[in-house]
Amino acid sequence: NVSVNHPTAVEEESSTNWQALAPDASSIASSIKYHAEFSPSFSPGQLDLPKAFLATAQSVRDALISNWNATYERYERLDVKQAYYLSMEFLQGRALLNAIGNLELTGAYAEVLTKLGHNLENVASQEPDAALGNGGLGRLASCFLDSMATLDYPAWGYGLRYKYGLFKQLITKDGQEEVAENWLEMGSPWEIVRNDVSYPVKFYGKVVCDADGKRHWIGGEDVTVVAHDVPIPGYKTKTTNNLRLWSTKAPANDFDLSAFNAGEHMQAYEALANAEKICYVLYPGDDSEEGKVLRLKQQYTLCSASLQDIIVRFERRSGSNINWGQFAEKVAVQMNDTHPTLCIPELMRILMDLKGLSWNDAWTITKRTVAYTNHTVLPEALEKWSLDLMQKLLPRHVEIIETIDEQLINEIVSEYGKEDTEMLEKKLKEMRVLENVDLPEQFAHLIVKPREIDVAISLQELEESSEEYESAEEKDESEDESTEEEKVMAEPPPKPPKMVRMANLCVVGGHAVNGVAEIHSEIVKDEVFNSFYKLWPKKFQNKTNGVTPRRWIRFCNPALSKIITEWTGSEDWVLNTERLGELRKFADNKGLQNQWRSAKRENKMKVVSFLKEKTGYTVSPDAMFDIQVKRIHEYKRQLLNILGIVYRYKKMKESSVEERKNMYAPRVCIFGGKAFATYVQAKRIVKFITDVGITVNHDPEIGDLLKVIFVPDYNVSVAELLIPASELSQHISTAGMEASGTSNMKFAMNGCVQIGTLDGANVEIREEVGEDNFFLFGARADEIVGLRKERAEGKFIADPRFEEVKEFVRSGVLGGNNYDELLGSLEGNEGYGRGDYFLVGKDFPSYIECQEEVDKAYRDQQRWTRMSIMNTAGSYKFSSDRTIHEYARDIWNIQPVRVE
Ligand code: PLP
Repeated sequence: NVSVNHPTAVEEESSTNWQALAPDASSIASSIKYHAEFSPSFSPGQLDLPKAFLATAQSVRDALISNWNATYERYERLDVKQAYYLSMEFLQGRALLNAIGNLELTGAYAEVLTKLGHNLENVASQEPDAALGNGGLGRLASCFLDSMATLDYPAWGYGLRYKYGLFKQLITKDGQEEVAENWLEMGSPWEIVRNDVSYPVKFYGKVVCDADGKRHWIGGEDVTVVAHDVPIPGYKTKTTNNLRLWSTKAPANDFDLSAFNAGEHMQAYEALANAEKICYVLYPGDDSEEGKVLRLKQQYTLCSASLQDIIVRFERRSGSNINWGQFAEKVAVQMNDTHPTLCIPELMRILMDLKGLSWNDAWTITKRTVAYTNHTVLPEALEKWSLDLMQKLLPRHVEIIETIDEQLINEIVSEYGKEDTEMLEKKLKEMRVLENVDLPEQFAHLIVKPREIDVAISLQELEESSEEYESAEEKDESEDESTEEEKVMAEPPPKPPKMVRMANLCVVGGHAVNGVAEIHSEIVKDEVFNSFYKLWPKKFQNKTNGVTPRRWIRFCNPALSKIITEWTGSEDWVLNTERLGELRKFADNKGLQNQWRSAKRENKMKVVSFLKEKTGYTVSPDAMFDIQVKRIHEYKRQLLNILGIVYRYKKMKESSVEERKNMYAPRVCIFGGKAFATYVQAKRIVKFITDVGITVNHDPEIGDLLKVIFVPDYNVSVAELLIPASELSQHISTAGMEASGTSNMKFAMNGCVQIGTLDGANVEIREEVGEDNFFLFGARADEIVGLRKERAEGKFIADPRFEEVKEFVRSGVLGGNNYDELLGSLEGNEGYGRGDYFLVGKDFPSYIECQEEVDKAYRDQQRWTRMSIMNTAGSYKFSSDRTIHEYARDIWNIQPVRVE
């Protein structure tokens, strides 16, 4: 209930009888009116939409605060073990409808807002998306927060409060354009700044040793972090957890008044600007040295601030008898990917340097506290940092990392030292935390030619080496006038850069390592971290991702939710998704099928208006809505989808009107997703898709049979609109490359049939929804290495249909644009990003054949509806409630705490 009852702030309009509202509604009404008048963001006067949103959100926040405080006090009083989810990304989206839905106050708020002359949906759409994340990884973190609160787990999120979230994407005739998204322009009604929760974070400086041999990190640059707390309400529970986001500012006294008075205005602000820029943007470009430093500062800020905060809480709850041996009984830290890896050396540093623990005690505690979730098996995405850069920025941490590396070498030597040197060398090269760094003195004799470890790096690693290394090379070339041949004879190969491998550090320093879907966790064990798996098999686990059924069915798809409730007999399914399985027995029921189709149509109609507004295109709601929305990436293969569409278009043009109608189900093909600003090939793909749209959508011969739309600025809110309206969704990554995917789960929940490869969670989705209800195509993960080899050896012969579609594109049908670089990536024999590394050509024939099956199935609407129902019914496993229960049981060892 809304427990805050403000004094009536606004003279009541005589026409509105507030007393006639339900008790919830009347206290909501006075709360909204109070905030409209007394919250200082807008001028007095009319309650226009932006003001209505802010006043409504503030009234909801009031309602959350008492639950939030009660939850905090309960954890504090019971001194429970708490889990902390550390993530550089939280893709929260909008909060208003989610919060009032979880509080079960949607009806009451809708009623009040109508009486105030507004409509709840319009008011809610005023809220900017909190886009503090890129895609799947960040949205996963947000779904997890919802499940943690809903299941009453004492668990918090820690992240950074970026001033600018993910960029806003504009689509112009030249493709994608990025502009800054100032999501805080109007202020956020959800956050509470805790000025009393603030810590120092240090960079640079040096390490000194005192008379007792203790190490101290001194000097350098200090910034201050401040906590901004966001309430995370659970569904139908009072538990309201916390998402603590850190912002950075200069320490007090860092405004240089004398410089300012002397007219050196910029200099006076320098410390301020330096500190604040840490939290300016999510993933600042890191091509430059400054960019790299900034990113590492961001990562360290998150780790240091969160751990200081966790430790203060542990000490406070321990009272006068602090027992560090109990730390891991009270604290679990989950690192969402490798971005928070610095948690490991930071916890070691605090425990040893500030709390006086020995190395061994600190190491035992750290290992028992920290766990790591791996999100990628792409070698180029496994994070590495230049050791030199880290040494400058975090000198004490590098000492600790070097000791961890040394310990690990010891372990590797005792495991493999008795075997041949070649094996030992291989294991050291693969497993060490430090890369391209000489072995410490005491181990040097174990390897015959230790320098070869440094030299034998692959071509790819060379390409990825740091700028420093490249510029050193360039300098060498410009200064050296000897011939190429002489150079090869005279010079030793350039020394590769020393790096810190963050994933290896996570595996060594964490007590659990998990992948995010069954197939992915197998790849983690069998390939990426196979040597570690052999050494510590018990560390490795699988935790298949999940998504919250509150946001992703109940709130985004009210029409379908009503039907599910009716046919399963209650709303239980929102908390116990197993109950969705009961729909299976009604999959052929005509009554359910009719209702199911009309709900889909209702959702499609909303998208028809949305597309008209955002893109100007009019699409038919009778056509199949075929959707691929996700980050633009070559491995996700939007290129395969669009080439399939171009092929379809070509074939349509070649057939008669009658043939066309018989062969093809009318489709609206919708794309959405952002390309990383410096990812050139991904941006070419965006441009190509929009070019195809311009040609196809204006072809009068084709009409409603085919439309191709690129929806600009895909984000959580757009996903909430598109997913419920989708009929076919595409999850077509090169097998073995998508760790899990989470939108595939959301689509299945919303009764959308998928076309996909056996990759990530697709494998498990297909198992659950049934083979007949999933359109499968393409090579399997275990075939990929062989297929790439076949290409590299020049043995691959492309299907004529693939050659035909490329030729058609090159023929100028899309209006004279040049696609040589885009299509060139699909040709040749070798190399990453060239030679069709992602095997678009290989999978093209099975993809278009599979699409023909899709057309056939869609024309039989009864069959299609059955498939759709079976997808919703089979999606129950993919609730993040299931995933969070598994993390709590297998990794965090935390228990639910009911807030009374
Ligand atoms: N971006 C947004 C806005 C999302 O909501 C999601 C998941 O639904 C993703 C990206 C991740 O999509 P995928 O799992 O298809 O990569």
